[in-house]
Parts: sequence; C-alpha cells; structure tokens
Amino acid sequence: MTQISGIFMDRDGLINVPPPPEDRYVLHPDTFTLMPGIAASIRLLNQRHIPVAVVTNQKGVAIGRMTESTLIEIHERMRALLAAEGAEIQNIQYCPHQESDKCTCRKPLAGMLLKASTALNIDPQNAWMIGDQPRDLQAGRTAGCKTLLVGSASAPPGLADASLPSTELLPPWILENFPFQP
Ligand SMILES: [Mg+2]
Repeated sequence: MTQISGIFMDRDGLINVPPPPEDRYVLHPDTFTLMPGIAASIRLLNQRHIPVAVVTNQKGVAIGRMTESTLIEIHERMRALLAAEGAEIQNIQYCPHQESDKCTCRKPLAGMLLKASTALNIDPQNAWMIGDQPRDLQAGRTAGCKTLLVGSASAPPGLADASLPSTELLPPWILENFPFQP
C-alpha cells in the first residue's frame, strides 16, 4: 500500500461546528468551535506524517459580511484550538470570492486543492478530500483525489468513495485506512 500523500479538509461542518443559519458564516473567532473527533483525527494524520490542508469557501468576505483580516483571525483561532489538542494543519487555502467573481478557487472547482498540493508536495492522485457537502467531493474528484463524505448530506451516486455519518467516526476510519507504514 502506498503512503497517502495528503488530506484536504473542508472547514465549516467538518473541522468546526457549522455557523447558525441566520449568520451563514462564522463571523468571529469566538464563535469558532471544533467538531467532535476532528482534533484527534488531525493528530492521527500528524503522527503518520500525512500533510493536512484546509480548503474553504468563504464567500462572506466577497459580500462584506467579514473582512479578510477577521477570516485570518478565525484561522488563528482554529490553529490554537487544534494545537491545544496536539494537532496541526500544514496549509490553509481559502476562497474569498463569490460566484460572479469567476475565480478558479471556489469549490466545486479544484484551485485551492491544486495550490495546497504544490505548497505541500501532495500528489492529488494519492490524496483524499474530506468534506460535508457534495461540492467538496466534486472539487476532490476534479483534482484527482479519493473522496470521503462526512455528515448527514447525501451525494450523487459515485461521487463519494466512502462516507461516515459523523466526525466522531473519523478517528477510527483513519486508524483503519491509514495504518502506520513500516
Ligand atoms: Mg462544509
């Protein structure tokens, strides 16, 4: 079995508790809280020397709900919460655009995954994209990754290579699928 070259993770709904519907976006570092099992999952990946990149659409920047500097503060909070549990993310890519910007980074496009691949020397063909929405998996597929859907959303047939009903089940899935290399 080949060593997995990297993991791409969506943010909202996978790493952190999704924002309340009335806000639509996490707008302040204080309202950023980790999903159960996610720090343990990232720690397991760290122990296996599998790089982890976060790839997140943050349209709230484009439409003026938050500034880019607030988004960066939110990501500092994410890093701090993970560090408190011995987990570390190697790369963060965010798309601050909206659809009308016609960017190449907004998922379901694969721009952020390709950028993170270059930054971390990840071979996308030998990587997984993990997310809670079909567009995450579409971005992963476009980049050439395997795809894991986590949570209650459903995906079109064939889009997910694997699925889990909750983030709490991610640590055992990692233990089973990414054993330590001899
Ligand atoms: Mg999400």
